Amino acid sequence: MGEPVEIKGQPASGGIASGPLIVLGGHRQKRISSGDPKIELSDLHKALAAAAIDLAALISRVDKDGGEILAFQLAFLEDDTLKSAVEALIMGGSAADEAWRKVVDDETGGYETADDEYFRGRAADIREVRDRVLRYLDGSSEATGAPGAILIGEELGPTLFLETDWSGGGGVLLTAGSSSSHVAMLARARGVPMIVGLGNINLNGHREAIIDGETGIAVLSPSRAERQRFGAKLQELNDRTIREAEFRYRQGMTGDGERIEVMINVASADEVDHIDISTCDGIGLMRTEFLFRDGAPLPDEEQQYQAYRKLLLWAGNKPVTIRTLDAGGDKPIGGITPESERNPFLGKRGIRLTLAQPKIFMSQLRALARAAVHGRLKVMIPMVTVPAEIAETARLVDMAVRELDAEGIANARPPIGIMVEVPAAAIAPELFAEAAFFSIGSNDLTQYVTAAARDEASVAALNDPAHPAVLKLIAAVAEFGRKRSIPVSLCGDMASEPCYLEALLTAGIKSLSVAPSAIARVKAALTAIRIGR
Ligand code: PEP
Ligand code: MG
Repeated sequence: MGEPVEIKGQPASGGIASGPLIVLGGHRQKRISSGDPKIELSDLHKALAAAAIDLAALISRVDKDGGEILAFQLAFLEDDTLKSAVEALIMGGSAADEAWRKVVDDETGGYETADDEYFRGRAADIREVRDRVLRYLDGSSEATGAPGAILIGEELGPTLFLETDWSGGGGVLLTAGSSSSHVAMLARARGVPMIVGLGNINLNGHREAIIDGETGIAVLSPSRAERQRFGAKLQELNDRTIREAEFRYRQGMTGDGERIEVMINVASADEVDHIDISTCDGIGLMRTEFLFRDGAPLPDEEQQYQAYRKLLLWAGNKPVTIRTLDAGGDKPIGGITPESERNPFLGKRGIRLTLAQPKIFMSQLRALARAAVHGRLKVMIPMVTVPAEIAETARLVDMAVRELDAEGIANARPPIGIMVEVPAAAIAPELFAEAAFFSIGSNDLTQYVTAAARDEASVAALNDPAHPAVLKLIAAVAEFGRKRSIPVSLCGDMASEPCYLEALLTAGIKSLSVAPSAIARVKAALTAIRIGR
């Protein structure tokens, strides 16, 4: 165990966590072969069995789409032909890890070069399962996936984050990344402490860490005194959470009695399983791109319909705003997003992409029109830049409705609103007055207004949603909406941060959509603000 070392990065998701460190992307130990084929065979069988147990346990925890990937990986592990090929190499003198890697890589070669994107996606799934077995073989895996661990690495993809079991605590330390990235957003939604932009870290000899996601400070190999210090802070945080919890079931209201709508942002249908609908005013944003897992088969119309329906039934008579697929930028999806763009944030993403992929878009619009019969669905278009994008989406929604009517399938036409997150829309909202509602995406609006990428640690200080230029645009959109009776909400991450609430209310925002973990905190903070009526 090393000496305590304090490291500092950017806070990305609050809370305190401590636990064993697990290096993402695997700093693997070199395995030394026993030289005895019998021992190598036995090691192989043990590693395969351990990896199979991991996968079976994970399958019971993730949602349907994630489960399909894992089931595929499990079937791959249990393939007898593959196993016999590895055994034959071991009997011929190869080490267990070498033999396993060779046979699996030979197998994946065909997938990797396949024309079909589906098979290329499967190659990534196979590599993942290959590495899971290798970690067991080289002994570096005993803590992998252990609940309560602190994951550390350069970056962490949203899929891996979603597949990780956070029920026993744990946290994330990233040397790169930014607090505005999607994985940071997911961490905030689930209350997983995260620090990003830590720069180079020497992990030699460090096995444990304590992290404080609120200050961005972590200590590797913490001493007893440091544990006590963080313990006291944790106690303080818990007390604050308890104090704020009393606001959870109240309506959002400023100190001078102005009603503020507080809705939630979700990334999957399962997320609402543990949320009481009476704690919020509905769903202000469902990010559907997380149904489209990278490398996984695309969800079909029926799978999407089931997910949307579940949210509508949960919300009852409260609104549910579901955003059409916003792939691209920092949310690439294999097989959907272009691979060779030099600047994906300024490329074919959001509505630009879905309009160019009518088959994928139509299956989502049909699923949405079918789900609309179950509640107050509002459909929202991301990255709108020109009014024609609304008109074209409306035309496709009408087509979906006509098709469903002709097929005798129950449906309804939902109202269509837009994300105001491209400066063009925020500067000239009058061009988009046909939209049923506006929802300001302050995450993207901030990155485009400040020309500072939301996932780039080196410019994180410039990516400031409280920049007067961003606030000026927010105020202008709120004012335009008020004058033209177009409802305006804000669903970017700044809505979840108490420090920005006063500025937002002053800008005229009266409807917020926040991370579920921030409901009580935001409502508590609102009561301390007086906007003067
Ligand atoms: C935003 O841009 O503010 C937003 C809510 O959308 P996302 O973070 O998914 O891009
Ligand atoms: Mg956005």
